[in-house]
Amino acid sequence: MRVRQNDTVEVISGRDAGKRGKVQQVLVPNDRVLVEGLNLVKRHQKPTANMRQAGIIQKEAPIPLAKVMLVCPRCNKAARVGHRFLEDGRKVRACRRCNEMIDL
Ligand SMILES: [Zn+2]
Repeated sequence: MRVRQNDTVEVISGRDAGKRGKVQQVLVPNDRVLVEGLNLVKRHQKPTANMRQAGIIQKEAPIPLAKVMLVCPRCNKAARVGHRFLEDGRKVRACRRCNEMIDL
């Protein structure tokens, strides 16, 4: 996976283009990510016994992975992601802009 939980990603197309947020969840089978505060949709929630909040609520909807780019924590830009192998055999992600390794 190019993107992991707690990464910061930038949306590259659609209504939220240019916005950034933190990945809450990666939905691997769907190739989508749930990003905090982005891609909000309105849900009409009926009141039930265990739901305190009724009416129209805003909720994040999963964004296709193809619509987000990882924001490199080193150069702070949306970047494509490459991979490197460390001497101990671990595979880490690397920013293709600044060539810094992202996971250390
Ligand atoms: Zn970078």
